[in-house]
Amino acid sequence: MRSVRPPLLEVKANTELKKSLAKAPSRLPLSGSRLKRGPEQMEPALEPAKKRTRGLGPAPKIDTLCPRAPPLSTASQSQGQAAAQRFPRKTGPCPPSTVLKNQRLVPPAPAQKPAASTAPPVVGGKKPGRRPGWDLKGQLCDVNAELKRCREKTQTLDQENQQLRAQLQEAQQQASALGTERSSLEGELARVRAQAEQGQRELGSLSARVRELEERLSTQEGLVHTLQKEQLELQEERRTLTTQLEEQERRLRASEAALSSSQAEVASLRQETTAQAALLAERGDRLHALDMERRRLHNQLQELKGNIRVFCRVRPVLTGEPSPAPGFLVFPAGPGGPADIPTRLSLTRSDDRRGTLTGAPAPPTRHDFSFDRVFPPESRQDEVFEEIAMLVQSALDGYPVCIFAYGQTGSGKTFTMEGGPEGDPQLEGLIPRALRHLFAVAEEMSSQGWAYSFVASYVEIYNETVRDLLATGSRKGQGGECEIRRAGPGSEELTVTNARYVLVSCEKEVRTLLQLAHQNRAVARTAQNERSSRSHSVFQLQIFGEHAARGLKCGAPLNLIDLAGSERLDPSLALGREERDRLRETQAINSSLSTLGLVIMALSNKEPHVPYRNSKLTYLLQSSLGGSAKMLMFVNISPLEENASESLNSLRFASKVNQCVIGTAQANKK
Ligand code: ADP
Ligand code: MG
Repeated sequence: MRSVRPPLLEVKANTELKKSLAKAPSRLPLSGSRLKRGPEQMEPALEPAKKRTRGLGPAPKIDTLCPRAPPLSTASQSQGQAAAQRFPRKTGPCPPSTVLKNQRLVPPAPAQKPAASTAPPVVGGKKPGRRPGWDLKGQLCDVNAELKRCREKTQTLDQENQQLRAQLQEAQQQASALGTERSSLEGELARVRAQAEQGQRELGSLSARVRELEERLSTQEGLVHTLQKEQLELQEERRTLTTQLEEQERRLRASEAALSSSQAEVASLRQETTAQAALLAERGDRLHALDMERRRLHNQLQELKGNIRVFCRVRPVLTGEPSPAPGFLVFPAGPGGPADIPTRLSLTRSDDRRGTLTGAPAPPTRHDFSFDRVFPPESRQDEVFEEIAMLVQSALDGYPVCIFAYGQTGSGKTFTMEGGPEGDPQLEGLIPRALRHLFAVAEEMSSQGWAYSFVASYVEIYNETVRDLLATGSRKGQGGECEIRRAGPGSEELTVTNARYVLVSCEKEVRTLLQLAHQNRAVARTAQNERSSRSHSVFQLQIFGEHAARGLKCGAPLNLIDLAGSERLDPSLALGREERDRLRETQAINSSLSTLGLVIMALSNKEPHVPYRNSKLTYLLQSSLGGSAKMLMFVNISPLEENASESLNSLRFASKVNQCVIGTAQANKK
């Protein structure tokens, strides 16, 4: 049993299938050429294959209207050929309907019963027409012939079919191979895509990197440009510096040459310096020895002049004062004539109380006095100081010095010590001059290695009480009471408690101190009591000298004392309370002055007991009187005749002092 399909349909289906299969291979992509294509070309090429792999989907388009060389049906072939003859083949389509129509146009043969024949009747050599209805045998023959042909054809078609099946199978295998290839290619494609994406990303990042690098490059280029500019500048600078360096080197060479010659010079100078230093040291030693010798000789000279010296100074008659009678005070010339230093003074006075037996006035009595030096009224302050300058200098050498001004009130003690009205340097007294001299000498001696310092104090002793004249602030004017105490246990030095000790180093400071003392005295003054004349003023200058290199120290106090008025009070005048107070003051003054005399006498007579403690004044000056001390007393005399009595008293006191000789002074050297 064959297929239930009618043979004609089957033939037609086979023909169509054959046509489609005949065309199919040409449409199948060749694997070799496919592999050579790029990824972008793959998709369109794969498209037909894809369609075919979907279970061979829609049948390939078969040109049923214009079959090309139909190989099977002879009838069809003959019909086709006939048609081709009637309708010459054109390039356009040739619908079979037209052929069929034409075939129908053939008039049907008359229905007569033909003889039984194996072949249909042929008319005019043409294709035999339809057998008449009665020719069943002929028809049967035709059918058999047709059937035979169909069987042959079926056989052929079966073979073809099998071939086609084989081809189909092969094609399916190819399709599956292609599917595999496709999936691998898809995998590859995906991988390539992934790679492409990766590449894209990398490309992106690389582009960003490139941009960044470009930016950096432009920055670097800018930098390079700047650096090139800088390099040019530096090269220019280098050229300048090279020039300068060459110049400097040239100078250096010149300097080195000069240096080497200088070094030689320095070496010779060093030698010379060493020699000079040795010489200098030797000269320094000699100078020191000479200085020591000078001090020794100076001291010897002072000793020869006497450790206690008395100078007499007569003040001039002031404006408004009565001129004394000529011859009242006479300054006889020395043995050498007027060129000699005046040392003598004669006071001549008539004593009204003495009368002669005849009643005639007694002849005037002449009192002659001789001192170490007498200064007549016209003597200037600088002349007076010149005489004591060497004595003042002894204090620098370590000998305590005391300079007193003794005399009645108004005789010129303060003028001698402190000076006249302020502002006139000619009238400066001993205190400012002595200090200026000491500062100058100390300055000179500093070049020899001596360093000096000076501490000043200024006190007054009134009615046996000590008051500070340098007091300031609330104590100013009150002259707060002070006590004289030993500087330390076992110390011979005395100090005044509550008194100011002021370090001085220049004249200006000394002037300030003297002004302060003057103000303090002015405050204490009363209408009835000119206190300054009733008190002793003691200016003390402590001198400290040190020669560090030679380990020497020396120093001594310089005392400049403006004593209280030495006048005596007439007891007959002592009546009222004020006078009684005045008498008591005077007694205190006289007591202290006589104590001073007694102390000097005791020292002169080398008595075992010296009554220093009998008065505040001698107690305070204890270390500056006696053995190692040098003393100078100015006896100030009024030129007025009315003061003759007091003048005589003063002159007598001074004469007694002048007769004293205190043992060899010892310098305070350590
Ligand atoms: P004292 O201090 O002894 O009481 P002063 O020194 O105050 O005496 O002198 C009394 C007056 O005499 C003062 O006005 C003073 O200026 C004057 N005087 C003293 N000595 C001299 C002198 N050498 N030259 C000029 N005037 C003098
Ligand atoms: Mg005075």
